[in-house]
Amino acid sequence: MIPIAEPLLAWYTRHGRHDLPWRQTRDPYRLWLAEIMLQQTRVESVKPYYTRFLQALPDWRALAAAPQDQVLALWSGLGYYTRARNAQRAAQVVMAGFAGHFPDTLEKAVTLPGVGRSTAAAVLASAFGHRQAILDANARRVLIRSHAIAADPKATATQQWLWTLASALTPEDAHGYNQAIQDLGAMICTPRQPRCTDCPLASRCKAHAEGRSHALPVTVHRPPKPQRRAFFLLAADPEGRILLEKRPDSGIWGGLWCLPQAAPDSGELSNLCNDTLPPLEDTPAIRQFLQEAWSRRLRLDLRLTALGEEQQHVFTHFQLRFRCAHARVLGSAVADSAATLRWYRPADALAQGLPTPIRRILRNLGGGR
Ligand code: SF4
Repeated sequence: MIPIAEPLLAWYTRHGRHDLPWRQTRDPYRLWLAEIMLQQTRVESVKPYYTRFLQALPDWRALAAAPQDQVLALWSGLGYYTRARNAQRAAQVVMAGFAGHFPDTLEKAVTLPGVGRSTAAAVLASAFGHRQAILDANARRVLIRSHAIAADPKATATQQWLWTLASALTPEDAHGYNQAIQDLGAMICTPRQPRCTDCPLASRCKAHAEGRSHALPVTVHRPPKPQRRAFFLLAADPEGRILLEKRPDSGIWGGLWCLPQAAPDSGELSNLCNDTLPPLEDTPAIRQFLQEAWSRRLRLDLRLTALGEEQQHVFTHFQLRFRCAHARVLGSAVADSAATLRWYRPADALAQGLPTPIRRILRNLGGGR
């Protein structure tokens, strides 16, 4: 085990990102929110969302009681929406089960929805001064390189070893150390271009000594992501409003407002679409099918006018390829009055909780319709 705490803390004092908004507080709610937002998301992307979210929902009570639509709208564009739904459920658990206070032990904290060991540890260390080790992506990379660990970083045994290492290396000042190792991973020991000459750990780093900084962590070949396909309906009524449909609470984009969707990989539509996953085709038969299927399901008199170019969106576990079907709604017909269907002016639609690709489509409105 290589002692890294001392040089790390000295470097952090001089070069750390002390001005980040979540570094100005010891409030568990604010620290926890930052940790949740920062999961798989860059600091610069999180900053404006963090500020807006706290202005609207400044504490556990406000978040627990907020309409889910408001929470999702505040999160809209940040991605990984399960985090938003879990965040609200966690706030409800904090209010109902912990009297409005973040749990003060690791065992209890990890029972909150969406709170893993590293998130819980980061909050406990910063809010309460507990000696708790973190192992987020930045900390993991620094440990792997400084100790030249060449095993698959996602393997269970490697994870266990890294947690043991992280716990042993974390000093009493876990609050400062955790922030220091996060900053070193984000600023110096970066994934693709580690700046070893500027690194306070260079003299003790095994990967650097062995000339393997760029080769670690090892990349384990994983099978390509499965692909899914979809058509989305961009229907405009005579007043220029757009029809949105609320997704079920569970599953992909759960609880978000979306354009009505048709999936070419199941049901009748699959008979019209080539199943070897070439680009989604634009044929008269497909257009007619979509027009009839959506007219029936949404109880609208629709006329498809165009199919947009194929677009892609990459999720953690699969890749979505989709085309947008532009349509006019004839007459004054309205959709089913079910709470899951609503007409929005484009500007109002953008204020809802929307999946990123749907937001992109609505922002680009103007052509093709
Ligand atoms: S010396 Fe290089 S590889 Fe080692 S911790 Fe520092 S930046 Fe990372």
